[in-house]
Amino acid sequence: MVVTGEICRMRTHEPRDITIIGGGPAGLFALFYAGMRGATAQIVDALPQAGGQLAALYPEKFIFDVAGFPRVLAKDLVANLVAQAGQFAQPIHCGQRVVALEEAADGGFVVVTETGHFPTRAVIIAAGIGAFAARRLPQPCAAPWYGRGIDEAVLAPTRYADRHVVIIGGGDSAFDWAHQLQGVAASVTLVHRSDRFRAHQATVDAVLAAAAEGRAAVHTFHELADVVAEGDRMVALELRDLKTKTTRRVPCDFVLPMLGFVSDMGPMATWGLRLEQDELAVDQTMGTGRAGVWACGDVTTYPGKLKLIATGFAEASMAVNQAVHWMHPEKKLSPGHSSNLAIFGQKDD
Ligand SMILES: Cc1cc2nc3c(=O)[nH]c(=O)nc-3n(C[C@H](O)[C@H](O)[C@H](O)COP(=O)(O)OP(=O)(O)OC[C@H]3O[C@@H](n4cnc5c(N)ncnc54)[C@H](O)[C@@H]3O)c2cc1C
Repeated sequence: MVVTGEICRMRTHEPRDITIIGGGPAGLFALFYAGMRGATAQIVDALPQAGGQLAALYPEKFIFDVAGFPRVLAKDLVANLVAQAGQFAQPIHCGQRVVALEEAADGGFVVVTETGHFPTRAVIIAAGIGAFAARRLPQPCAAPWYGRGIDEAVLAPTRYADRHVVIIGGGDSAFDWAHQLQGVAASVTLVHRSDRFRAHQATVDAVLAAAAEGRAAVHTFHELADVVAEGDRMVALELRDLKTKTTRRVPCDFVLPMLGFVSDMGPMATWGLRLEQDELAVDQTMGTGRAGVWACGDVTTYPGKLKLIATGFAEASMAVNQAVHWMHPEKKLSPGHSSNLAIFGQKDD
C-alpha cells in the first residue's frame, strides 16, 4: 500500500461521545452542556481561537442581549464560555477545518479535518455561517498589504494607538470602529463608496458630528486607488473621488476594511442533511435528518428562527440532550436542574 506524506501527517484523536463542529457561542455552550450530562465531547474549529464570530469579527464590541449580562464584551463572553466548558476538561481543537464526515465501522462517525481524524459517536454541527473570512478589498494594490498594514479584524484597539487609521466600509462595524478609535488613533478616516450607510443611526450621527468638529474624517463616494509606501511601510492611501475622478492622499498606517465577510458551507452540503439554501433545516429536536447528527446556532433554520446568541444557547442544550438520550436511551432527555445536579456537588431535592 502506498502511504502519502499527507496521510502520514493525519493524527487520529481519542474517540469522544460527541464532536461539535464549530466553537462559536453555540458550540462552546454545547461543549459545557455535554460535560454536564456526563458525555465526553470535543470541539473542532477552523479558526485559530475559540469564539466564532465574537472572537473573529467583534471581540471588542459590547453585547447587550445575553441573559444575565447588562452588557458584556464579546471577548469576555467567549472567555466565560470557555471557562464554563473548561469545568469538564473537554478539548477544543482549533485550526482544524472539517472537510468530511465519514461513517465508522462501529456505527459512529469520523470527523475528518485537513490534519486529523476525530472518531465520535454523535455529531453536533454548530458551524455558524460556515468557515468564514473577511471580504477582501477588490483593488489589486491592496493584496500585498494584508498582514502588513491591512488588518482583517480588530483584535486589540491598542494596536492603533497614535497611528493613522483608515476604515473602509459603510456598515455597523465600520462606524462602530470609526467611533471607538477616536481618541485612541492619531487620526480616523472613514471611506465609503456612497453616502448610504447600513449602520445604527446614532453611531452614524456621532461619527458625522466628529467629522464636522475635525475629530475624524469621512469621505463618501471615495474608494481606494493606491497604497503609498516608504520602504516597506505603508504611510498613506490615495483615495479616488468617484464623482470628480480626482484623487486625494490621506495619512495611513493601518487600513481596516469593514466590507462584511464571505462564508462557505464547504463539505456540509454533501453530508445528506436537510439544506435550505446555505442553512441546515432542523426539526424541533435540532435533528438534521441524519441519525446521530444534530445542529444548533446560526447554521440552523426553522420557522421563526432568530440568529442570536440567546437562541443558539437554547438550541445547543436541546441538541446535546437529544444526542445523550440517543446514545444512552436509559438517560432521561431532560437534564433536570443544574442547581440540583450531583456533578456540581449539589444534592437532588
Ligand atoms: C458585528 C456583529 C455583531 C453581533 N452582535 C450580536 C449581538 O449583539 N447579540 C446577538 O445575539 N448576536 C449578535 N451577533 C450574531 C452572533 O455573533 C451570532 O448569532 C453567533 O456568533 C452565532 O453563534 P454560532 O456558534 O452559531 O456560530 P459562529 O459564531 O459563526 O461560530 C461558528 C464556528 O464554526 C466554525 N466552522 C464553520 N465551518 C467549519 C468547518 N468546516 N470546520 C471547522 N470549523 C468550522 C467557524 O470557524 C466558527 O468558529 C453579531 C454578529 C456580528 C457579525
